[in-house]
Amino acid sequence: MVATIIDGKSFAEGLRTRIAGHVARLKAEHGITPGLAVVIVGHDPGSQVYVAQKAKQTVEVGMHSEKYELPETVSEAEVLALVKKLNADPAIHGILVQLPVPDHIDPKKIIGTIDPAKDVDCFTPASVGKLAIGLPGPVSCTPLGCLMLLRDNLGDLSGLHAVVVGRSNLVGKPIAQLLLRENCTVTIAHSRSKDLPGLVRQADIVIAAVGRPEMIKGDWIKPGATVIDVGINRIAAPERGEGKTRLLGDVEFASAKEVAGAITPVPGGVGPMTIACLLANTITTASLINGLVPPS
Ligand code: NDP
Repeated sequence: MVATIIDGKSFAEGLRTRIAGHVARLKAEHGITPGLAVVIVGHDPGSQVYVAQKAKQTVEVGMHSEKYELPETVSEAEVLALVKKLNADPAIHGILVQLPVPDHIDPKKIIGTIDPAKDVDCFTPASVGKLAIGLPGPVSCTPLGCLMLLRDNLGDLSGLHAVVVGRSNLVGKPIAQLLLRENCTVTIAHSRSKDLPGLVRQADIVIAAVGRPEMIKGDWIKPGATVIDVGINRIAAPERGEGKTRLLGDVEFASAKEVAGAITPVPGGVGPMTIACLLANTITTASLINGLVPPS
């Protein structure tokens, strides 16, 4: 069996088109232009590229976009003051502070100051709690992207056994919550789990969110399982020239695609979904702030 390759790039394009439709309807029917503010502190090149992409895609779907680039030397108090100003700004429905921030700034304090109603990254304790008990609100972006790809491929996930490898607050825990909500039987594995290959072999759905290149091997995968590889690992690629790199997932793609029913590639799988889901969350918060039911 050779797996279906799940094309996250094209799914994300379609999602952005649907989001542009929601933006147009919010403007035409309610006079609301969803607004997203992105704050970046310092000059991390990876973060700069990512934030530029976010700003570009926000504008492309017709939303209002604000980008704040603060110097490395900015004080914690100044960042907090900016977040509070954005909390109070009626033109802004989503606030995202790009992490990591420099060492002299406490990320927990910054995140904790974001109004949960505008927390499009779903990082605040209030948002995490809402996700856990199933109240409406933003959903962590990468996990939401994984869920959309799964639903698109499998339809009803009810009763399927999902093994999530990784338990971070950013990916592993929220995706486990979402899959539980979909009536999956969920196993969460981590660095202390015993017999990881044996656990993964039981899975109808494998979510790999570890951050270790190609750690999950093809012979760990149950034939026909759906594999969602969240991992993004940049490794040296001297065969491409001096100093060149390439991206690898957490799953050994070449062997896994011979066994799985469907699998996401890296790059081009989960990665492109994250920003599209950030925009989807901004539609959700803009709707809820204005007393409207968010589009499903
Ligand atoms: P973290 O480092 O925060 O978490 C990694 C998790 O993997 C931890 O729970 C850890 O267990 C577990 N783990 C580490 N080693 C092993 C092992 N040998 N066996 C089993 N479990 C192990 O990473 P993130 O969750 O933030 O990210 C995971 C990956 O996803 C990374 O490659 C990251 O780049 C990528 N990513 C991709 C995104 C996208 O847009 N596609 C967005 C976010 C992340 P323990 O808790 O016990 O330490």
